[in-house]
Amino acid sequence: MKNWERWTDEDVRKLKEYVDVGLSNYEIADIMGKTYGIINNAMNRYGIKRDRMVAERMRCPSGEDSPNWKGGKTASRERCRINRREYSKEYYENNREKYYAKRDVSRAIKAGSLKKQPCEVCERLENVEAHHDDYSKPLEVRWLCPLHHKGLHVKLRQREVECV
Ligand SMILES: [Zn+2]
Ligand SMILES: [Zn+2]
Repeated sequence: MKNWERWTDEDVRKLKEYVDVGLSNYEIADIMGKTYGIINNAMNRYGIKRDRMVAERMRCPSGEDSPNWKGGKTASRERCRINRREYSKEYYENNREKYYAKRDVSRAIKAGSLKKQPCEVCERLENVEAHHDDYSKPLEVRWLCPLHHKGLHVKLRQREVECV
């Protein structure tokens, strides 16, 4: 087996995650520091497909909550098509910003310009994770242990703030 073909479970897990959030192979290659071909190859080898999840996300909403709801039958195919396109565009853009922020953090840590800090709540240093209040400022992060990071997200969920 060639060296580049060796993928750890963690790598495979990350690849699945990136595919699920709708990143393209090129973007995944960039974030993971691999080539397009390697990503493609690994997706085939591990049977990772983006269709199901992305299709789910992009599915035209139906029912009264939908912006297409105009008494049911009048929602035209065309309207659905446009809505689906807009939805997926927004979805992709949000995720792109998020994952580029994540990539920038790991690069900065490797380069030594960003250092992991103890959890701001309990001061544990093990497994701290970077939390972004704003993805457009990728290097402005708060450090939290997994427990307090989860806790923060529970609190933030109502405000629809996401992070890596
Ligand atoms: Zn903590
Ligand atoms: Zn977070």
